[in-house]
Amino acid sequence: MIDAAVPPFLAQLPHGTRTPCHRRPELFVSDAPSAAVTEAARHMCAACPLQQPCADYAIRMREPDGIWGGLTPQERDAARRPPCGTELGWRSHRSRGESCITCREAHRERLRADREQRLAREHRVHGGSLAGYRLELLLGLPTCARCRAVRQQYYAGRPRPQKWYRRAA
Ligand code: SF4
Ligand SMILES: [Zn+2]
Ligand SMILES: [Zn+2]
Repeated sequence: MIDAAVPPFLAQLPHGTRTPCHRRPELFVSDAPSAAVTEAARHMCAACPLQQPCADYAIRMREPDGIWGGLTPQERDAARRPPCGTELGWRSHRSRGESCITCREAHRERLRADREQRLAREHRVHGGSLAGYRLELLLGLPTCARCRAVRQQYYAGRPRPQKWYRRAA
């Protein structure tokens, strides 16, 4: 009977052979393996015919402990994360409270491109608009005469909004 706990990638092992880590259970138990254990395991895994499927399996199963396919828990965690420079990568950093210059710059670029597109659409569809005026400010551009005119018309005759710091006075 096949043990259900045995990872299925081991079925790819040539008949009658064993993985180099056979009888080395200590490699699979620590969530922070020592440098010596990591080094020894890397050598062993490099000679293993199942290195790639072993690493893939541990990454897919979110295996938290030990060395698998030559990868430490931290390396497997990094391999699972979306690549830097993508929107998902940026969100992944944010959810962890991390700062990554590559992702931050890429996110700013995407935001700017999106605002430019929306501004172009406002001009194309409406000629000028309040939204266009705000986008111009957000993009650090000089506001255009058409957007300014729409804004002036919008606020003409309206009472000035009362500022919160004036209300108490
Ligand atoms: S890659 Fe390393 S941990 Fe995985 S089966 Fe081979 S020797 Fe064992
Ligand atoms: Zn990043
Ligand atoms: Zn405009």
